[in-house]
Amino acid sequence: MNSPIIERILELYARRGGQSYGEGVSMNEHALQAGALARRSGAPPDLVVAALLHDIGHLLHDLPEDIAERGIDTGHEMLASAWLSQYFPPEVSEPVRLHVEAKRYLCATEAGYFEGLSDASRLSLKLQGGAFSPERAAFFANRPLADAAIRLRRWDDEAKIVGLATPGFEDFREALETSLKAV
Ligand code: FE
Repeated sequence: MNSPIIERILELYARRGGQSYGEGVSMNEHALQAGALARRSGAPPDLVVAALLHDIGHLLHDLPEDIAERGIDTGHEMLASAWLSQYFPPEVSEPVRLHVEAKRYLCATEAGYFEGLSDASRLSLKLQGGAFSPERAAFFANRPLADAAIRLRRWDDEAKIVGLATPGFEDFREALETSLKAV
């Protein structure tokens, strides 16, 4: 079955995914590495799709690639989740929406997590409001799908390996179709 939405998504990455993610890998490489990590860890299709598409917000806007260095937070996770929620269940759009908050949560609750972040992630953390207070962290931990968002976050942090071989987007078509059909 050829879904027009899946074709649009694949076309978007084909057209715009070659742009830099900012850490020596392209948006395509980052997406595919995150998706592959999710799949390898045995995540359900919805979470594999969330990992693959978590930064689609960067491809949906027309702002410059060095926007964070200019001190502007684009809110890419909000744009992405709003767009995805039209076609996919909350199990996809919510972990995407919360993947920035998951970073703020992990910075507040896990020793050494901040130190392990890339320079770009530390820079964007500042723009995104920094580590959560203990109260905000407790609130976040109780949100539906917070666990899925934290898993996604860890794949996101890892998916920045220059030159790593990954499956292609076509290899995720089945997961995309499974997830889309569940709406
Ligand atoms: Fe990312």
